[in-house]
Amino acid sequence: MNCFLVGGAVRDKLLDRKVSDRDWVVVGETVDSMLAAGYEQVGSDFPVFLHPKTKEEYALARTERKSGKGYTGFEVNSESSVTLEEDLKRRDLTINAMALDKNQQLIDPFNGQNDLHNRLLRHVSPAFVEDPLRVLRVARFAARYHQYGFEIAPETASLMKQMVDQGELDHLVPERVWKETSRALLEKDPDIFFEVLRACGALKVWFPELDVLWGIPNPVQWHPEVDTGIHTMMVIQQAAKLSDNLAIRYAALVHDLGKGLTDPAQWPSHREHEELGVAPIRALSERLKVPNECKELAIMTSEYHTHIHRALELRPATILKVLNHCDAWRKPERFNNLLTTCIADAKGRTGLENRDYPQAEFIWNAYQAAMKVEVKSIIEAGATGKNIKLRLDEKRINAIREFKQAYQPD
Ligand code: ATP
Ligand code: MG
Repeated sequence: MNCFLVGGAVRDKLLDRKVSDRDWVVVGETVDSMLAAGYEQVGSDFPVFLHPKTKEEYALARTERKSGKGYTGFEVNSESSVTLEEDLKRRDLTINAMALDKNQQLIDPFNGQNDLHNRLLRHVSPAFVEDPLRVLRVARFAARYHQYGFEIAPETASLMKQMVDQGELDHLVPERVWKETSRALLEKDPDIFFEVLRACGALKVWFPELDVLWGIPNPVQWHPEVDTGIHTMMVIQQAAKLSDNLAIRYAALVHDLGKGLTDPAQWPSHREHEELGVAPIRALSERLKVPNECKELAIMTSEYHTHIHRALELRPATILKVLNHCDAWRKPERFNNLLTTCIADAKGRTGLENRDYPQAEFIWNAYQAAMKVEVKSIIEAGATGKNIKLRLDEKRINAIREFKQAYQPD
């Protein structure tokens, strides 16, 4: 069988990166001959098979012609006469359009290796515009390969802009947008994904609540970077350094959406942006069908991040209120994630990237102290019904007060 390793595996091998999954193209075969050789067919839109032993993906070489709107509506030709080069030509970027044959010889009709050396993300052919998902893919690759110095070729950037201007991104479905976004959030430099989308106008299409943050000022005293969009990008950078958790990264991204709704007459102040943020976070999360875990942490972060920032000044009763609202008792991990997001928010400011943030440990330890209160002892002391909860709150407040009195910041 005439098989070629293609796509990401070839690219990442040449970049000396760990290869995660290997995709193969088969030339000169048919569905029947693949099935006869023991491969299991999996694709419905086009013929893709799983290798009987390795379970890696083998696709028949194919060409695609646009016949409808959006990323669907392609006419696929996978006859056995389709050549490797024709198959490579339908791919998005030159660095993704290289193949390796059995003898490890590189087949590179679109000079992907050259672009790899020059750190350029460049489209293969004008047919790039036929699939709007490619705009998001390029943004995601930009986020992933920023660490190696990759940039988008100017002619590719202008094609992306043109696609957005022509309304092509409206044809994407939320599931695909979220899939690319969530993968981008988990890359090393997720901020680059959003910067690329902003530069081509795509951020306004799918993330309008985020897009408006650029140009909205903050008080320079707390935010030397001033601009809310810039701050947001710095927070997502910090979140990426602190954690690989998707919910934390998403919450970092949207924690200040409320600032897009403050009356410009109040700028640079943003009173009540914590509560104002809930509606746009819901709107964005529901549009993209973001998982509940991400949405919940994001809303909680919007509502409570300024409380956490002021943790050392809060009264014990207020600390308890925060813990109750966050349901820290039943969801300790989510509460911990909230604190991590708050650290990212505090450090995502120019010149403050390395600051200490004792608030997180303080409130976590206050929470641990409150957790030591046992309901059992309250019931044994004779409390019943509603009084159990009242006594529990009282005792927890006392525990927090005692902890606070003994607290010595280092
Ligand atoms: P990753 O490391 O994220 O898996 P990848 O490049 O392998 O990156 P895949 O989504 O696995 O990406 O796709 C494999 C290959 O298929 C790509 O390298 C590219 O050549 C091609 N491809 C995938 N999606 C598209 C698309 N929407 N348009 C054009 N080519 C695509
Ligand atoms: Mg892949």
